[in-house]
Amino acid sequence: MASEAHRVGFVAVAGRPNVGKSTLVNRIIGSQLAIVTPKPQTTRNCITAIYTTPNLQMVLQDTPGLLKAKGALNTSLMATAVKALENSDVVLLMVTPAETIHQQHLHAVDIIKSRGVPTVLAINKMDTVAPERLLPVMEAYSKIHRFEHIIPISALDGTGVEELVAALTDLLPQGPPLFAEDDLSDLPVRFFVSEIIREQIILMTGEEIPYKTAVVVETFREDPLRVLIQADIHVEKDSQKKILIGKGGSMIKKLGTVAREKIETFLARPVRLELFVKVTPNWSKSKPHLKEFGY
Ligand code: GDP
Ligand code: MG
Repeated sequence: MASEAHRVGFVAVAGRPNVGKSTLVNRIIGSQLAIVTPKPQTTRNCITAIYTTPNLQMVLQDTPGLLKAKGALNTSLMATAVKALENSDVVLLMVTPAETIHQQHLHAVDIIKSRGVPTVLAINKMDTVAPERLLPVMEAYSKIHRFEHIIPISALDGTGVEELVAALTDLLPQGPPLFAEDDLSDLPVRFFVSEIIREQIILMTGEEIPYKTAVVVETFREDPLRVLIQADIHVEKDSQKKILIGKGGSMIKKLGTVAREKIETFLARPVRLELFVKVTPNWSKSKPHLKEFGY
């Protein structure tokens, strides 16, 4: 029998785009759930990943970042992030080692203060600076808020992550498990499939395409031999559709092949993937479309 009390609760992972939130969530869970790419603003939805051990059930919400509201898409992102903060037991604020605190992190701290949620600060990417440069960063942050802990980590190589998880665990309330032991996430598989497709779009296309792209899985059918997946890729302009399809369909074909292979690994089953590129003008500025596409 476990001697320690069982702890259960929600951790909102907050921080600017690109600080390494998805990388950390993936490292803790040990499986590629959140998508990780070198471009900022990849994660739009709150990805809920569940870390379960005999004494712990920690629900991690990878927030899309507390961005300054600019246009309907960002306003909706922002609302999602604030909601995640409000519904959490602990906030994990992630930053990178810079002594000048970014405006958006000051703003995040304001929200954290106003909600009174206990917060742990992780200074990520410590592998990118000399150790003596960490202390001034820790001091700068300790001046703006009474964090429960300030812990330097590297989500990439795993340094400090165990200590961080222990600190977060201590701040969670006691209680029985909320989810079955083998649940990795309570989000539908469809969502992960659409994220895998979006990841390939981000990696394979140029600057202006990714942020005007929404992927919606319309069909997910488990046939005896394989899973049939039909997904719509919504872009805003004809010119974007042309880029996505490529010369003689070369781009969409390449994209579809790599995405299918990744989905097959994720589902551990053969997949037939059909992609349809659709022009939906101004979807990123339209509330009904944002809702329809799951943002
Ligand atoms: P997010 O936008 O906050 O979710 O950031 P991501 O997890 O997508 O990471 C953004 C980029 O930073 C990716 O290229 C990661 O490989 C990289 N990264 C994340 N954590 C670390 C780290 O600890 N050290 C280094 N050097 N790079 C990292
Ligand atoms: Mg992310």
